[in-house]
Amino acid sequence: MYKTKQRELIMNYLNKHQDKLFCAEDISLALKNQNISPSAVYRNLAELKNMGKLRQTTQRGSRKIFYQFLDNNNCKGHIHLSCINCGHTSHLDDSAAKLITQKVKLAENFDIDKDDTVIYGICNNCKEKTK
Ligand SMILES: [Zn+2]
Ligand SMILES: [Zn+2]
Repeated sequence: MYKTKQRELIMNYLNKHQDKLFCAEDISLALKNQNISPSAVYRNLAELKNMGKLRQTTQRGSRKIFYQFLDNNNCKGHIHLSCINCGHTSHLDDSAAKLITQKVKLAENFDIDKDDTVIYGICNNCKEKTK
């Protein structure tokens, strides 16, 4: 299969899964019927990561590598909240982000890089489920 076609299929997947954590196997599985080999998936993910389009992360209790697609237009300037339980990732509310960055700046004279900051915790959905 042509490289560009592979990239296209993978980008399609990423666009549909913005702000979600996924691993290489997730993509391989999702694209199983498209005849993309796992090694092609890994290669593409590595390339996209080098291009700054993917953030690489791990989840607590697992050494598995997860990725998150960063839509530059969408994600720029947002602090991400990432659930350590289900992997759901969302953007921190702007006013809350402002408060945090201002407080940290005041206390530590430290400038938080919002584009590169992920706060880990338990999301609302997961808390609802354990109620
Ligand atoms: Zn985002
Ligand atoms: Zn969750």
